[in-house]
Amino acid sequence: MGDLSAHFSKKEFACKCGCGFDTPVPELVDKLEIFRELCGNRATYINSACRCVKHNAKVGGAKNSQHVKGTAADIRLIPGMTVDQMAKLAEQAGFDGIGIYSWGIHVDVRGYKARWDYRK
Ligand SMILES: [Zn+2]
Ligand SMILES: [Zn+2]
Repeated sequence: MGDLSAHFSKKEFACKCGCGFDTPVPELVDKLEIFRELCGNRATYINSACRCVKHNAKVGGAKNSQHVKGTAADIRLIPGMTVDQMAKLAEQAGFDGIGIYSWGIHVDVRGYKARWDYRK
């Protein structure tokens, strides 16, 4: 049991710099729960979610990154799945922004549709 929802806790979403920013918008967490269920309730690891402006710049995030707004999460590739499968289920879960990478997918609730594929 997480402290944000059934399966997610604030510490998984916390900015990695230690500043204490660990509050994603509820809509993001709700959709992550839907996504997790669509993935057959497999463990879903968040690589990076909330980022303060300073940390976002340090990791090379976009200037107006959704991560700074607490509306985005990067999900690590789930063992036994492909990033394409994950992106398809993220679509079904209703995320607005979905980005495909070799390490997993970025999802967000920016309020309008955005798609990209940065696999190299
Ligand atoms: Zn920070
Ligand atoms: Zn991201």
